[in-house]
Amino acid sequence: MHTDMDRRAFLTAAAGLTAAAWLPRWSEAQGGKTRLILLGTGGGPRPKKVNMSSAQVIIVNDVLYVVDCGDGVARQLVIAGVSLQRLRHVFVTHHHSDHNADYGNLLLLSWASGLRTRVDTWGPPPIEKITRLFFEMSAYDIDTRIADEGRVPLVPLIHVHELTQPGVVMRDENVKVTCALVDHPPVTPAFAYRFDTADRSIVISGDTNRSDNLVKLAQGADVLVHEALYVPAVDRLVARVPNAATLKKHIIDSHTSVEDCGRVAAAAGVKTLVLSHLVPPDDPTITEQMWIDAARPHFKGEIIVARDLMEI
Ligand SMILES: [Zn+2]
Ligand SMILES: [Zn+2]
Repeated sequence: MHTDMDRRAFLTAAAGLTAAAWLPRWSEAQGGKTRLILLGTGGGPRPKKVNMSSAQVIIVNDVLYVVDCGDGVARQLVIAGVSLQRLRHVFVTHHHSDHNADYGNLLLLSWASGLRTRVDTWGPPPIEKITRLFFEMSAYDIDTRIADEGRVPLVPLIHVHELTQPGVVMRDENVKVTCALVDHPPVTPAFAYRFDTADRSIVISGDTNRSDNLVKLAQGADVLVHEALYVPAVDRLVARVPNAATLKKHIIDSHTSVEDCGRVAAAAGVKTLVLSHLVPPDDPTITEQMWIDAARPHFKGEIIVARDLMEI
């Protein structure tokens, strides 16, 4: 889409003035441009026709940094033309199923697609237990494929890191990753992540109420992908979901109205606000323009309403 190319060219030019000093020079010399692909942009775990649950991938110098693993993340990567064999890092913001339902499947199915190299995964507790139990559950398939297809053992490839504190998560030759605690009761800890590369800075909010920690984390970022809630539609949404008596209270208490998304983006001074993890995710009466109009009075920068497989 030519508008995306224009946007990226603009961001690249703008970021060139402030390229992070800590990055090794060869990384910049390679000329690798940081890509952000939105894989799943709907809020909530319910499988939907129009969009998938939360997932995105940042690609730097052909290295994959996946953030959240909603339903279908492996398939969305394939549809986006991204090789699962190149999976290298997986970051989980928090352990709601719309963010982690396919965490284990991403590892398993990438391996079944030829992955044979190390993968580091990061997230709040109990990600170690989740990983261990997933491999235990999948042992029959894993052992069968090792014996029958000559695969390398999967389990030793996966290195799990539990995060409990805000701060620097990791850094490598491509990126520095920082996390902040966000406010998503009753799930704790819940994290937002910031990725600083040679040419871009990208922040993924995860799920949160309006968060001052997120404002600090996102200071001056090129792109803020923020979860967004269209409050007037919540009653209709809740009426469609059976057996969820306290769902409305959770939605209001634990998520961010689209108006507040604009306020957070303005307070952080980001260039581009991407409204994602849309709630409601699939209400055809809420148009793209309505999302933008709700955020616009509070934020003067670029506003994008996320759609699955959009590259930014
Ligand atoms: Zn969510
Ligand atoms: Zn959540």
